[in-house]
Amino acid sequence: MRTPYIAGNWKMHKTTAEAEELARSLVRSLDRENKKVMIAPAFTALGPVKGCLEGSHILLGAQNMGPEEQGAHTGEVSVLMLKDLGVEAVILGHSERRHKYGEQDDLINRKVRLALSHDLEVVLCVGETLEQREGGVTRRIVEQQIRGGLKEVGDLGRITIAYEPVWAIGTGKTATPKDADDTHGFIRDLLSRLYSAKVAEDTVIQYGGSVKPNNAAELMSMENIDGLLVGGASLAADSFVPIVRYDTGS
Ligand code: PEP
Repeated sequence: MRTPYIAGNWKMHKTTAEAEELARSLVRSLDRENKKVMIAPAFTALGPVKGCLEGSHILLGAQNMGPEEQGAHTGEVSVLMLKDLGVEAVILGHSERRHKYGEQDDLINRKVRLALSHDLEVVLCVGETLEQREGGVTRRIVEQQIRGGLKEVGDLGRITIAYEPVWAIGTGKTATPKDADDTHGFIRDLLSRLYSAKVAEDTVIQYGGSVKPNNAAELMSMENIDGLLVGGASLAADSFVPIVRYDTGS
């Protein structure tokens, strides 16, 4: 049985005070939810937000991390620093890291293995661009990103896969639940081939791309969609809380 897992990626938004206010509001509203919830503020707000999450079941996530433990890497934030702040999960391979900052599967894989070696949970993002979708290579791209990101990763116990079609991120366009579910089904089959049927069955696969309160329930009603990775709509309690509380009516 996979526990529904809803995560909010706050990207490069919110001052410390704004982040704390939102975190406190989420703790008040979501404390009785029995879903798994994670929020990923900017690095600068991680420490203060951790303080707001004390005693709550909401996990603290980071949006990225450097590929080395420490050293001469100007501008990077290391896994040791994240652990020091009480971070429990890290989003890796987000499409904005891949496409705006040129991150490739090899680098993402180094980060994934480093995060796991320090007991962080990882949300590994994969997804095709519009051009790739229109070229009919969605599955090939997603397979390449999963194989590359998980190279030499033997245990998926701390891994969540987030399928985020790039053309649906921040654009207001959502993959239809059926299209998203088809790709999720493909990912589950791939995990079964690469690992085992049991691992494939147990691994949570989130969908991300313009998730809103009005489409969360339908997406979550699909067989292979186990969670949501939310960008824009995670920036306000008014939109994130109803997404976490989605009701599929079943
Ligand atoms: C994201 O950044 O992971 C994302 C899915 O963004 P949005 O919900 O704004 O499309």
